[in-house]
Amino acid sequence: MYDLIIIGSGPAGLSAAVYGMRAGLKLLVLEQNPMSGGQVLNTYEVDNYLGMPGINGFDMGMKFKEHAQTMGAVFKQAAVTAMSGKNDIKIVETADGSVYEAKTLILAMGAGHTLLNVPGEKEFKGKGVSYCATCDGAFFKGRDVAVVGGGDVAVEDAVYLSRMCRKVHLIHRRDSLRAAKSLQDKLFACENVELHWNQTVSGICGSDLVDGVMLHSVTDGTDSRLDVEGVFIAIGMRPNTGGFCEMIDRDASGYLIAGEDCLTSVPGIFAAGDIRTKQVRQIVTAVADGACAVAGVERYLS
Ligand code: NAP
Repeated sequence: MYDLIIIGSGPAGLSAAVYGMRAGLKLLVLEQNPMSGGQVLNTYEVDNYLGMPGINGFDMGMKFKEHAQTMGAVFKQAAVTAMSGKNDIKIVETADGSVYEAKTLILAMGAGHTLLNVPGEKEFKGKGVSYCATCDGAFFKGRDVAVVGGGDVAVEDAVYLSRMCRKVHLIHRRDSLRAAKSLQDKLFACENVELHWNQTVSGICGSDLVDGVMLHSVTDGTDSRLDVEGVFIAIGMRPNTGGFCEMIDRDASGYLIAGEDCLTSVPGIFAAGDIRTKQVRQIVTAVADGACAVAGVERYLS
């Protein structure tokens, strides 16, 4: 019987592990992937985390995990398939058939990529369609690629790809970017990035590999084609509730409803990081959630 099981090992889960160990809790961290760090691992450069300007996302993820391990946190790689716990004992089942019991849970599974849901997207995933520029950009060295989206991630991806690709087409459905001004400044300074305003992607084409995207203008309704060999989709995130969070109240987008105290609708179950309803989804707010959730766990246990 654990005091606390943390599901997920991104910044929120790892921060909760550090705070939980310091609080003397018997805890276990369940992580689905062999590498801890969550979305941070796929971030080329993080420039807004206090005290670590310009750190590479992978290095940051490793630093976070090392910290939790140094505190003695125990990790197990296993995908959670079911969870129950309206009563005092919470039960977590994993894909390898293991069953774990805990007095409290912190859900810190983060968020994943939103799909465009256009013809060709699923078919060409890994064959030209990617959701991670830092992971796959190198495959497109010297080629023409498209990035879809207008947020921080899309703009960051376009800037990153412009360093290795011949040309980067940034396709955005509106006439202004949502991305931070500082990122936009970097983007506008890239000579090989072309912006396609007011355009949506209606399809991704190719035979074995991607060779183009179909664009639809939202202003005049015309359709056109861009020849590209890679399409990087960066249109936001959706919560990784994994199909086992039905017992917890969620908002219309599926995020677990919880305030700054990270309390969900089920006593003893807390939500931390990008998976919970919040205004600002950043590494720093996820890390803060880890601390707040453990404070909630301690209050609940006592
Ligand atoms: P985001 O800020 O939600 O931006 C998503 C973008 O995709 C928006 O421009 C949106 O268009 C567009 N979009 C959404 N659905 C679409 C669709 N079906 N078709 C075409 N375009 C679509 O998401 P994000 O860029 O992934 O960022 C997620 C969070 O991480 C944000 O809070 C961001 O600030 C944070 N982040 C921060 C940093 C940093 O500070 N260094 C780096 C990366 C991410 P509209 O603009 O028209 O809505």
